[in-house]
Amino acid sequence: MAIETKHAETLALHAGWRADKSTGAVAVPIYQTTSYQFRDTEHAANLFALKELGPIYTRIGNPTTGVLEERLAAIEGGAAALALSSGQAASAFALQNIARAGDNIVSSTDLYGGTWNLFANTLKDQGLEVRFVDPSDPENFRRATDDRTRAYYAETLPNPKLQVFPISEVAAIGRKYGIPLIIDNTAAPIISRPFDHGAAIVVYSTTKYLGGHGAAIGGAIVDGGNFDWEKFPARQPALNTPDPSYHGTVWVEAVKPLGPIAYIIKARTTLLRDLGSAPSPFNAFLTLQGIETLTLRMERHVANAQKVADFLAERSEVSKVIYPSHQTGQARARADKYLKGGYGALIGFELEGGAAAGRRFIDALEMFYHVANIGDARSLAIHPATTTHSQLGEEAQLASGVTPGYVRLSIGLEHIDDILADLEKGLKAARA
Ligand code: PLP
Repeated sequence: MAIETKHAETLALHAGWRADKSTGAVAVPIYQTTSYQFRDTEHAANLFALKELGPIYTRIGNPTTGVLEERLAAIEGGAAALALSSGQAASAFALQNIARAGDNIVSSTDLYGGTWNLFANTLKDQGLEVRFVDPSDPENFRRATDDRTRAYYAETLPNPKLQVFPISEVAAIGRKYGIPLIIDNTAAPIISRPFDHGAAIVVYSTTKYLGGHGAAIGGAIVDGGNFDWEKFPARQPALNTPDPSYHGTVWVEAVKPLGPIAYIIKARTTLLRDLGSAPSPFNAFLTLQGIETLTLRMERHVANAQKVADFLAERSEVSKVIYPSHQTGQARARADKYLKGGYGALIGFELEGGAAAGRRFIDALEMFYHVANIGDARSLAIHPATTTHSQLGEEAQLASGVTPGYVRLSIGLEHIDDILADLEKGLKAARA
């Protein structure tokens, strides 16, 4: 029995699963299997012909992973999802699914470093050009568009600048041309709903808030089911022309009986089939466990982060706090438009004492973990100038928003008094 609701709190616990049909088990079982016995030859043929959906082989689909996919799609307000082995795989597949060598993508410059590398180097080597534009002016996306532009790409809440992306403005430009906006919502699950603002595809690194406990690398693509691929055959040939890799299937036609999910079915049946990157059923289970408490955790994450941002803003050791509720003008207006219920749990701040103070700050922390991750239940800190951004020259660091004294915090679920007490230790050391 499907639970009829739009509330993420309920969907996070119920979407996609009730109980195991044979044992009654309530927790989603880990189907640790590679393959699945077909009922008969007709059943097998139907599965391969996509006349019927069901597990064939765990590289392409698995029942545990399937619950994760259904739950993610429900929470996000999308039509269907594809879980992958990492967020990197999700970003790559999201573009490779509709863009080929000779095509291009227009992307925001404000990206996670790994995504930037994927776009600027690996996809480029594969003949796919990514054109980077400044997202502060949405019109930059239109200016960079040509006949071979297949998608727009951006992150909702990119760090280190933490300036929220103008989702509906860029989505509206794209929709006129038949270009979908793909949004990486990793840093803002629950508090931002990109499909409500016209995004067509959402990608996640589930490694972060969705899994929530720093235990499993994972990624996902969610298809909004809200984009009319068929209306733009010249713009979107991958979904509108016969696909030789699946016996000449025209995806928008073949998938019609299953719903508006041609994009995600193609990603599963071609890219996942050919390139792998399937999550292990165990990691899918861990991610599902995390998602069950996602809404509750996000509430505490953002409440703690707001208190930390306010605390830091009052400190003489701190020259600047970078947090959406501390922004003004256009950046603040966008944060208020696209984030609901809080401003996220990532905070940047600049120490008066520059890089040396940044190092001393990090070394003095006792409770915060010093790691290159975000979105863990535990509080995390890093000094980007000497770690994640150390390969960039100072000029490139500054362009990406990383000053020598910039520190990034990912605020966790501990008691706020303990978080502030640990930060106090760091600030004392930064002063020295
Ligand atoms: N997108 C964002 C915003 C990220 O922060 C990360 C990882 O830090 C990724 C994508 C890549 O995800 P993963 O590490 O799961 O491959």
